[in-house]
Amino acid sequence: PFDINELIRLCVIKNETLITSKNLEIEANFDSENLFVTGDKDSIERVVINLLHNAVKFSNENGKIILETVKNKDKVLISVKDDGIGIDENEQKRIWDRFYKSDKSRGKDKTGTGLGLAIVKNIINEHKQEIWVESEMGAGTKFTFSMDNYKYNIED
Ligand code: ATP
Ligand code: MG
Repeated sequence: PFDINELIRLCVIKNETLITSKNLEIEANFDSENLFVTGDKDSIERVVINLLHNAVKFSNENGKIILETVKNKDKVLISVKDDGIGIDENEQKRIWDRFYKSDKSRGKDKTGTGLGLAIVKNIINEHKQEIWVESEMGAGTKFTFSMDNYKYNIED
């Protein structure tokens, strides 16, 4: 088990240069001080970093990224929200495919191969957890994934 809040803070610190290069504001809304989850720490760090990289890449200058953890009984929900370009509704199912890049992102930002979310999806599946996206064109995108709450398991 590891502290998911601590892992998220570390991901932000590791990507400080990237974040400040676009003058982005980061807001962290953590449910409680320490929030322990079960899973493979390195893999979950990969998930958070891939989601954070996307949030930065598809944000406009001076945008805001909100990182949130919410305890929900035996689960912890972790979300990465941006106020960037958004993803069209009919493309939202395909973003998980290897090498898929939306029409909008191909025009705006050609960097990347379209593998980040396929890797994320694989890791989440291996953990028998869920991930979903809510997005509106021109308004922003929110990715949320679940983890098992470690403290809940031992108290119960
Ligand atoms: P890579 O991650 O391999 O560097 P990538 O970021 O283009 O490349 P994915 O992370 O797999 O690939 O994302 C797939 C596509 O989903 C992106 O190209 C983009 O079209 C869309 N997408 C992902 N995250 C966001 C986001 N936060 N806002 C807007 N579009 C997004
Ligand atoms: Mg990516």
